[in-house]
Amino acid sequence: MKHIAILGSTGSIGTQALDVVRQHPDQFEATVLTAGSNADLLIKQAIEFVPNAVVIANEAYYETVCEALAHLPIKVYAGDDAICQVVQMDSVDLVLTAIVGFAGLRSTVAAIQAGKTLALANKETLVVAGSIIRQLCQQHKVSVLPVDSEHSAIFQCLNGEGDNAISRILLTASGGPFNRYTLEQLERVTPQEALRHPNWNMGAKITIDSATLMNKGFEMIEAYWLYQVQPEQIQVVVHPESIVHSAVEFIDGTVMAQMGLPDMRLPIQYAFSYPRRLSLSGPKLHLFDLHTLHFERPDMQRFPCLQLAYDAIAKGGNMPCILNAAGEVCNQAFRQGLIGFMDIARITAQIMQQASYIPSPTLDDLFATDAETRQLTGLRIAPF
Ligand code: NDP
Ligand code: MG
Repeated sequence: MKHIAILGSTGSIGTQALDVVRQHPDQFEATVLTAGSNADLLIKQAIEFVPNAVVIANEAYYETVCEALAHLPIKVYAGDDAICQVVQMDSVDLVLTAIVGFAGLRSTVAAIQAGKTLALANKETLVVAGSIIRQLCQQHKVSVLPVDSEHSAIFQCLNGEGDNAISRILLTASGGPFNRYTLEQLERVTPQEALRHPNWNMGAKITIDSATLMNKGFEMIEAYWLYQVQPEQIQVVVHPESIVHSAVEFIDGTVMAQMGLPDMRLPIQYAFSYPRRLSLSGPKLHLFDLHTLHFERPDMQRFPCLQLAYDAIAKGGNMPCILNAAGEVCNQAFRQGLIGFMDIARITAQIMQQASYIPSPTLDDLFATDAETRQLTGLRIAPF
């Protein structure tokens, strides 16, 4: 029995993770559940799964959650610090990091410091602090099991390959809903249109990041830290059908790919059960139904956020942290109708020039960078 802390249990990844737990009650137990502000869903989940502890990050809902769960043997906590504490509980074997954005960094660090195995969904952690996270994982002998579908695919392609050298990673991207749009059309995209992803049903932030290809840029940086390849060895491949979840090319020219229907429960479950595979309900991939798969080069002119990610990792230091913070603020501003779709890349690029650059940042430096960048980006957005 694996005892799992699900950070961000009320989100898209969190709810699908609970579905995996629901299907395998003899294998997995949800020991900790945490949410941001969605007290109603957290309470519902706690009643169904009866974890040891729940945390609601937004302290305003503490009383509500306490009252609703008073009849159950569940400890209730509130606030960010409590999330960092509960992941360290002895009863936790594995931590699923499914909080969205920079907000997921602190609890991920706390889990590593407690030596917990990570099922990593929060890619922003590696984007912002990849070097520090790698060092911490080595120091505390922590394994990272990727949950992002592309990185899970790469992980699966590398199974049993030992030290065999990788020549390239082929990181697939659906291309999002606007793959065929002209620059002019992209300027006029609305939040409602951008929130409709063709293949995946995800949280709002990552859905917008998928439409701009910022998400693919983040995933390139994530792959860089997870698999120790150079950025130029990571080829983004636009593959609108989302069947090949990514592939690895070895030095002999062999390309190993992982395929399946787009269903996040698969990589979540694999991270939970690794190295075993368990059954999973739902439709399966039938090759005869596919007819054709398409693969194209990404267009960095129409999707400049991807180029910004390559620029950020080339510059190194705190630049990916600046990219992430400016990107998060712009993403939200776009969803609120404050800026246009192409302004996300435009403003992020400007802020990457403006924010203070630190070549070898500490964790504290990264928190300061995040705060400074958010402020600068907020000021830049205000006049729009
Ligand atoms: P959602 O927005 O759907 O869910 C986010 C979760 O984090 C919710 O439980 C939310 O709580 C909680 N949360 C938000 N802000 C805070 C905060 N400040 N403190 C504590 N908890 C907070 O996001 P997704 O599930 O889509 O994504 C989660 C992570 O997984 C992201 O990093 C994303 O990049 C990554 N990922 C997601 C994929 C997907 O298919 N969705 C695929 C690959 C990676 P509440 O509900 O109360 O607001
Ligand atoms: Mg992904």
